[in-house]
Amino acid sequence: MTGVPVAETSGNPASMGPSGKNFPPAPGLYVHVPFCRGKCPYCDFYSVTGLSLLPAWRQAVEQEISLYRGTFPAFDSLYFGGGTPSLLSVPELAALMAAIHRHFSLDPAAEITLEVNPDDAALEKLREYRRLGVNRLSLGVQSFRDRDLRFLGRRHTASRAAAALTWAREAGFDRLSLDLMYGLPGRTLADWERNLAAALAFRPEHLSCYRLTVEPGTALARRRRKGRDLISDEAAREFFLFTSACLEEAGYLHYEVSNFARGEENRSRHNLKYWQRRPYLGLGPGAHSFDGRRRWWNHRSLAAYLKALDQGKLPIAGEEALTPEQERLEHLLLGFRMKDGVALESLAGAARWQENLAALTARGWLKVEGGRARPTVQGFLVADRLPLWFADSGRAALPGPGGLAKGGLSSSGNDIF
Ligand code: SF4
Repeated sequence: MTGVPVAETSGNPASMGPSGKNFPPAPGLYVHVPFCRGKCPYCDFYSVTGLSLLPAWRQAVEQEISLYRGTFPAFDSLYFGGGTPSLLSVPELAALMAAIHRHFSLDPAAEITLEVNPDDAALEKLREYRRLGVNRLSLGVQSFRDRDLRFLGRRHTASRAAAALTWAREAGFDRLSLDLMYGLPGRTLADWERNLAAALAFRPEHLSCYRLTVEPGTALARRRRKGRDLISDEAAREFFLFTSACLEEAGYLHYEVSNFARGEENRSRHNLKYWQRRPYLGLGPGAHSFDGRRRWWNHRSLAAYLKALDQGKLPIAGEEALTPEQERLEHLLLGFRMKDGVALESLAGAARWQENLAALTARGWLKVEGGRARPTVQGFLVADRLPLWFADSGRAALPGPGGLAKGGLSSSGNDIF
């Protein structure tokens, strides 16, 4: 579904970003902080352990910001992700925020999120983050059980996670998001229910619940060769459905496969841009950008990223533009991961779409409401396969309902399938 990335570009900002004219309003801005204190055994994200290059990275990001000056209109979301953004000291974050304000326009009501490892949280530091304009924290809690945290190789303890949440509230954050992870071997639904209850005690505005998966090349994958560390797809489906029911009952909107919000207003404005194919600019190693048609991405390696910026060039490793059919399919792929689903017009281009829609509705995976095809929670379980029923070019390879029913859960951080 993707185009072919081109080789190294000229790095000319004028050719990379949109012109600022005829541009859909309110893009999002992402800053990737690629540092972690240690490597968690399940994580396959690119990150560097050790902070010696953090000052060079910060200067490079500031340089990248200046190179993009004037290419994007005002951003209404800013997201510091990683890696571990909470490794940034207050002066380092202040310097980045100053560079952003100097070169970009940021909507005064922008959602500004920073990912926090509970182990880095301290009341005064969180207060300072808040003073710098951060108004939403995403806390990588993962579990409120020490046994789980040890299995996951996390730095923090359950009591530290609870303290971080208390401090976050005290520091004035009224938008908190928690990451939780299910699917650890040997844990029961009752264990998971207690974990959810511990999270709900803090009334977080947002929750992301991911299934633990084993990614190639990780320490967990090496351990798994000895035959441990995964639950079955069948069990994962049970956890998924239980999570959805439990959180919906607690008043949360299951608005995306892995994401829950206490009301529409608490959905992640920034992540909605990815799912709704809105424009965004990504800064830092490995960050991706999208201007509504074209997508480009930075060097993943910190060394290559720093080198390009040292030479005054944008650190772009590749780019692609999708064909109209690819765009339509991507729209469906992302749309079917959201409770809102997709407008019926976007299905109408495919042959036999009404017949297929009727089949999926009869199966209980989609429902038609307000001119949209919306996935049910059962539909979320096969979300990545739903677009295949409306793919013109891929029709011949479409699996029948029997094949689709085997769709398993296989998320790693972000995805259920
Ligand atoms: S899970 Fe988070 S903290 Fe752990 S290595 Fe990956 S990015 Fe770093």
